[in-house]
Order: sequence, then structure tokens, then C-alpha cells
Amino acid sequence: MRVAFLGLGQMGRAMAASLVAAGHEVRAWNRTKGKTPAGAREAGSVREAASAAEVAITMLADDPAVEGVSRELLESLPRGAIHCGMSTISLQLSRRLLAQHAERGQAYVAAPVYGRPEAAQARKLFIVTGGSREALARCKPLFDALGQGIVEMGEVPEHAALLKICGNFVIASLIEMFGEAFALGEKAGLDPQALSAALTRILFAGAPIPSGYAARVTATDFEPAAFAMPLGLKDVTLALKASEELRVPLPLASLLRDHFLASLAKGREKWDWGGMAAVIREEAGLAPRRG
Ligand code: NAP
Repeated sequence: MRVAFLGLGQMGRAMAASLVAAGHEVRAWNRTKGKTPAGAREAGSVREAASAAEVAITMLADDPAVEGVSRELLESLPRGAIHCGMSTISLQLSRRLLAQHAERGQAYVAAPVYGRPEAAQARKLFIVTGGSREALARCKPLFDALGQGIVEMGEVPEHAALLKICGNFVIASLIEMFGEAFALGEKAGLDPQALSAALTRILFAGAPIPSGYAARVTATDFEPAAFAMPLGLKDVTLALKASEELRVPLPLASLLRDHFLASLAKGREKWDWGGMAAVIREEAGLAPRRG
């Protein structure tokens, strides 16, 4: 399939490489040049990447990045082609993209992903889809090349966006909960690693996502980030934006937002978001990093 891949960050670069490995013809564009994976063609502009594409995938940081790139994409994607949005973005932008592409005879589907860069490299992402059945069926060979499973959320792209936002809200809440519980244990002299292993075994039967985040919270070093702190702030802010529109108070999301903000205020842009728990340690009078 002829694919335009827009956004070659930690996730996008690995995903574009998987599409090449599966035999797709990939034209890749990124704001900063020189990140195109082997076997893909580097495009000098969004237009150059998208003008002959059957599907254009966006895998960009946030709403402003996706909105900016989509302005050019809307003008250059052929009629009948599909914009497959795989970034974690707001409900509101998902809704606008659906309408704007429809006006131009193009399709928009949302397909945000679960899994960190190592899962992207191993083609083990979970892909949450929302969009027309016909457009999603055309994207399926691409999803098969990228992930281990598809979670279908129906025909409304913003529903897939919301599932992703809810999931990351739950993970951020796990970071908060583990951060608080482990600070309590550590202050009493318990070994945080032993506490983490025991609690995840008892409460979560060793499930990989809670166990992985419990381990990340007890880490002594949060760099390099697989999912960086500003993206954590972005995702709880997306939950709050959805909560405002839907009139659903999310008091925990407000607390999480402040803890991500406090982390960034301390210059922790390059830390993994699991390092947000360091501000909880500091509030407890513990050093931000054990060592
Ligand atoms: P990343 O490594 O920070 O990459 C961000 C990408 O967006 C880069 O290609 C960057 O280009 C581009 N970008 C940022 N601002 C831009 C702008 N204004 N205009 C054009 N391009 C812009 O992020 P990532 O970890 O790959 O995440 C990408 C998306 O996937 C995010 O929505 C994130 O929430 C989601 N996600 C991430 C993970 C994870 O574990 N990392 C997991 C699931 C979902 P430059 O290279 O020029 O900076």
C-alpha cells in the first residue's frame, strides 16, 4: 500500500520501519530531517509525502502538531484517501478532522495506540480504532503490521480518542497511587522494590502494565524517557478538556495535572512520566531519586 507517514518521533520512526518491513511503500515526513528509517523515502514536505498516498498516518506529539500538519494534509491528500490519526489527541480535534476530511471527499479514522516505543519496535502495539467500517477495513493490513491486536470502538473516531485518553488517565493514576504508597512504605524503612513486587503480585496478579509502572515509580533514574513528562501533562489535560465538555468532574485528573506541572517546574522535561512520583517523594521529605 502507498503510505504517507507523518511524524518520526520515538513511536513514529519504529512504526514506519514496521510498515516498510511488511512491504508497504512508505514516504515519510518529519519536521526535523534525518529520521527516516531505512527503506522509506524521505519527503521534503507533507504534500510530497501525501499527494499519491492511499493512507496518510499522523503520529505527532499533540493537538497543535496534528492540527498544523493536517492543514497541509487536507490540501494534498487525494480524494478517497484516508487520514489515519494514531497520535493521542483531543475529542474535539478528532471531531473537527472527521468533518474537514469529509468536506474534501477524504476519510478520517482514529487509531491511537497502547504500548511504548519498545512495543512499537516489536510490533506489539494495541490499536484502538474508530471510524467508518470501510475505511478501517482498508487500514487493517497496516494495523496488522504494527500491532498485536485491534480494539474496535465503532464508527465514531472520537470514541477511540476517548478510550485512549481514559486509559492514560488510569495509568497516570497508577503512577500517583504507587508513588504515594511507596513513599509511605519507604518512610517506614520498607524496601520500595520489595513493596512494589508484593503489591503488584497480590493486587494485579503481576499484570504487565501495573507491574511495569510500579517498577518505573521505584526507578532511580528516569532518563531517557520512553514516554516523556510533557506528554503525560498533555494526556491528563486531554482528560480534563473532555471532562469540561461532558460536565464530568475529575478531581483526580486535576491533582495529576498539578503533579505533572510541578515536575516540569523542576526542569524534568526529559524524564519519563513515571518520574512524576518524585514530587510525591519530595512532599514526603524523601530525596527525589534514590541512589
Ligand atoms: P516524540 O518522540 O516526542 O515525537 C513527537 C513527534 O511530533 C516528532 O516527530 C516531532 O517532530 C513531532 N512534532 C512535535 N511538534 C510538532 C509540530 N508543532 N509540528 C510538526 N511536528 C511536530 O513523541 P512519541 O513518544 O513518538 O509520541 C507520539 C504520539 O504518540 C503522542 O501523541 C503520544 O502521546 C502518543 N503515544 C506515545 C507513546 C510512548 O510511549 N511514547 C505510547 C502511545 C502513544 P520533531 O522530530 O521535529 O521534534
